[in-house]
Amino acid sequence: MNVGVVGAGIVGLAVAREVARTRGARVTVLDKEDRVGAHQTGHNSGVVHAGIYYQPGSLKARLCREGVALLRQYCAEHRIPYEEVGKLVVASTSAERAGLRRIAERARANGVPGIAELDALALREIEPDTVGVAAVHSPHTAIADFPAVARRLAEDVASSGGSVLLSHPVRALRETASGVDVLAGRRKLGFDRLIVCAGLGTDTVARMAGAAGDVRIVPFRGEYYALAGAARDLVRGLIYPVPDPRYPFLGVHLTRRIDGEVLVGPNAVMALALEGYSWGDVDLGDLRRILAWEGTRRLAARHWRTGVREVLGSLAKRSFLKAARRYVPALTGADLVRTAGGVRAQAVARDGGMLDDFAIDVHGRVVLLRNAPSPAATSSLAIARHIVGLTSVLAS
Ligand SMILES: Cc1cc2nc3c(=O)[nH]c(=O)nc-3n(C[C@H](O)[C@H](O)[C@H](O)COP(=O)(O)OP(=O)(O)OC[C@H]3O[C@@H](n4cnc5c(N)ncnc54)[C@H](O)[C@@H]3O)c2cc1C
Repeated sequence: MNVGVVGAGIVGLAVAREVARTRGARVTVLDKEDRVGAHQTGHNSGVVHAGIYYQPGSLKARLCREGVALLRQYCAEHRIPYEEVGKLVVASTSAERAGLRRIAERARANGVPGIAELDALALREIEPDTVGVAAVHSPHTAIADFPAVARRLAEDVASSGGSVLLSHPVRALRETASGVDVLAGRRKLGFDRLIVCAGLGTDTVARMAGAAGDVRIVPFRGEYYALAGAARDLVRGLIYPVPDPRYPFLGVHLTRRIDGEVLVGPNAVMALALEGYSWGDVDLGDLRRILAWEGTRRLAARHWRTGVREVLGSLAKRSFLKAARRYVPALTGADLVRTAGGVRAQAVARDGGMLDDFAIDVHGRVVLLRNAPSPAATSSLAIARHIVGLTSVLAS
């Protein structure tokens, strides 16, 4: 079997490797950029989530737990940096205790190991410069080098006889009686099956396949500051707020990265282009399509207060400082420096709801990964197994 994969992010590459490894298929990965992991895979917090937050029984809950085990082993086998620095979810007021309790219950229901509920003193034994009234500790939450994982997966694809064709944007698709014809860059390629893991480009490729579907990608930029110099020593691991259950985003947190940086962020502002990495990145075509989607308008009507607050706080150092000082009060404005952010591909349904779970659609010979937000980097190897295991995906 000859299988094409659109997207050389961590998920597309993991899927390609899995197809080659388990089905002996010849795989070709196509990406429009000149390097692997150029979008979400290379612009995230770098956290290997332990599975704390997700609805028990959901794909996210299951594939996150499976994904952690597979990723830990993969990183060990290939000497890719992976470190269990541990995570605290911190309640800073008594009003947040109930939310924290729910987090602990969910984490246990999802089988997250080592979960402990801590009081104000015990949390300081783990993070001496952090304050709060209570916390949930997840000692096995880790950090990893996701771009290095993606590069290694690309090597695996190549050594299985497959290829990763960079600078090959998919421009057109046509399903035939026996397969899928693809125009990528200037090349015409034919596949028996095509698996689309195109992140922010999902809708564009879905339209080419005649499968616009009933959800659309809305880009949410996540902006970050980094801690400068000695301020990094104020954070040992990962410090998160109690999340607002109305949103899939986790709230501004402090994250130690595998390269020693400590990030403050990300916030969540709707971007003005699918690849809208800054306010200056505006694509009128993208914007027209995003705003024409009923789901976007309903989402905006429902959450406009939060949206306005996030836009006003966007890039404003004081709003990031305020969020960080809630947990680490010793931080000052001089400790925060701007750093690069990322854009999340978040699927939004027609009714304005943000899809919470991973979503996969099979449309004839084309498989579309419609929603793969966080923790999809963590879960990538398990998502790959899941997709390849779906009988409808690779049935001849
Ligand atoms: C700010 C932020 C923080 C995050 N933090 C975490 C975290 O800590 N832990 C975690 O597990 N997850 C996190 N995530 C989520 C995680 O990064 C993504 O879920 C994951 O990277 C998705 O991988 P992907 O391969 O599906 O997408 P991507 O990495 O975006 O790859 C999609 C690829 O498709 C290509 N493509 C698109 N259109 C076309 C086309 N027409 N032709 C050819 N190629 C095309 C793109 O160039 C791109 O390389 C975060 C995401 C963001 C944005």
